[in-house]
Amino acid sequence: MRAFNVAKFGGTSVANFEAMSRCSAIIENNPQTKLVVSSACSGVTNLLVELANGVQDAERRLAVVKELADIHNAIIDQLAEPVKVEKEVHAILDSVASAAEAASFQSSKKLTDHLVACGELMSTHILAQLMRERGVDAVRFDIREVLRTDDNYGKAEAQVEEVKRLAQEKLIPLCENQVVVTQGFIGSDEQGNTTTLGRGGSDYSAALIAEAVQASGLEIWTDVPGIYTTDPRIAPKASPIPEITFSEASEMANFGAKILHPSTLVPAIRHGIPVFVGSSKEPEKGGTWIRQQVEESPQFRALALRCNQTMVTLRSDKMFHAYGFLAKVFEVLAKYKISVDLITTSEISVSLTLDKTDTSGGAPELHQAAREELEQLCTVEVEHNLCLVALIGNQMETKGYAKQVFSTLGDFNLRMICYGASDHNLCFLVDAPVAKNVIQTLHQELFEG
Ligand code: ASP
Ligand code: MG
Repeated sequence: MRAFNVAKFGGTSVANFEAMSRCSAIIENNPQTKLVVSSACSGVTNLLVELANGVQDAERRLAVVKELADIHNAIIDQLAEPVKVEKEVHAILDSVASAAEAASFQSSKKLTDHLVACGELMSTHILAQLMRERGVDAVRFDIREVLRTDDNYGKAEAQVEEVKRLAQEKLIPLCENQVVVTQGFIGSDEQGNTTTLGRGGSDYSAALIAEAVQASGLEIWTDVPGIYTTDPRIAPKASPIPEITFSEASEMANFGAKILHPSTLVPAIRHGIPVFVGSSKEPEKGGTWIRQQVEESPQFRALALRCNQTMVTLRSDKMFHAYGFLAKVFEVLAKYKISVDLITTSEISVSLTLDKTDTSGGAPELHQAAREELEQLCTVEVEHNLCLVALIGNQMETKGYAKQVFSTLGDFNLRMICYGASDHNLCFLVDAPVAKNVIQTLHQELFEG
C-alpha cells in the first residue's frame, strides 16, 4: 500500500468559509493526504432535492435558487480571488435554474441526479480555490470521469473494477504531484449521464475511491468526534470509542448509528483500509479508528437505536412440520424487492422487519400487492411504531451475557429478539415511546459501571 490518505468532509464540515478553512488546515497537517472528497455545503442537497421534485410555483423556485446562490456566494466573497471560481459556480447555478424549471414540468430520476449533483460540483470548486489560497497545491477533479456506476439513478451502484481502472489511469497520476479535491455522492453511467449513490452517499464514494487508489487510510470528517457508546443526546454519559473493529462498526452502521453510511465500510473491509472518524470542528478531540484488529474487544461495545420499524408477522398452520413455506414467503418478498432486516420464527409463524430502502424518512411499508400475495399463503399482520435496539459487542455467546442484558430490561415489553446469528450483535424491538428509556437503562447498567 502506498502512503496515501483520502480525507472526506461532510456537508457541515464545508458549510461556510470558516468551516472550509478548518478542513484545509486538517489537510495541510497531514502531508500524506493526497485526495480530498467533499460533500455539498450543508443544506444544499435538500434544496436541490426540493427543486428536483418539481416546484410549480415560479416564485418559490426562484427563492430556492437564490438561497443556493447565497450559500455559495457567501463563501466565494471571502476568497482572496473570487474571480477564480465565480464563473464556474455561477454557470452551475444557471444550469440548476433551468433544470429546476424543466423538473417543474416533468421530473424524472435522471433529471434529479443531474440536479442534485450540482451541490458537490459547486462545493469542490470553492474548496479547491480556498486551499490554493492557503498555499496548498490543490486541483479540482470531476469524479464523474472515474466513478463509473450503473444507470440506476438515485441509487446507482459503482462498477468497482472499472472505477479501479479509471482511477489508475486518471486519478493516481494527478495525486502524485498535487492534492486532488473531488466530489462525493456522484458518478456517471456508461453513457456519461450523471448518477448519484443515494442520500448520504459521499462516505461510500470516499471509500470506493480509497479502494480504487489503494489508499493506506480513509478519514471521514464530520460534525461529531467519532463513534460513541451510544448517542450522547440520549445518554449524556456516552463515551467515545477510540478503536473499533470493522465487524462491530458495520453492525453499528447497519443498526442505526447515523454516523457512517452503511455501505461505507464494504470497500474499506475489502481492501483492509483503516477508517478514521472525527470532527472537523474539533480535530484535537481525536476520534474513532475502525480497523481489522484492535487492542481491546469489550463484551459491551455500543448501543444503537433505529426507529420507524415495520414488523410483519406471517402465520400459517401449514407451516407446521412442512418444508418450503419460508421459501415461498421469500419468493414473494424478492419479487417485490422487499429487503428484510431481522427475522425470527416459531413453528407456525415468522416475524420480520422491513429494511428501509428509500430516502423518504418514513417507516417502510409492505405494499398492497405484496401483502395480497402473502395473504394467499398465510395471515399477515403489520405493526408500526416500533424501534430497534441493537447491542453491539463481542463474545456474546458467553455464559451470563443474556442474563445480564435481559435482567436489566425487566420493566419493558420486548418484541422480536434476535440473538445468536452474529457474535457481535443482539437486537430486539420495543415500543417507540419507551425506546429512549430502554437505551438509557441499558447504557447505565452495561456501560457506566
Ligand atoms: N450531499 C449528499 C447528501 O446530502 C451526499 C452526502 O453528503 O453524503 O445526501
Ligand atoms: Mg452528508
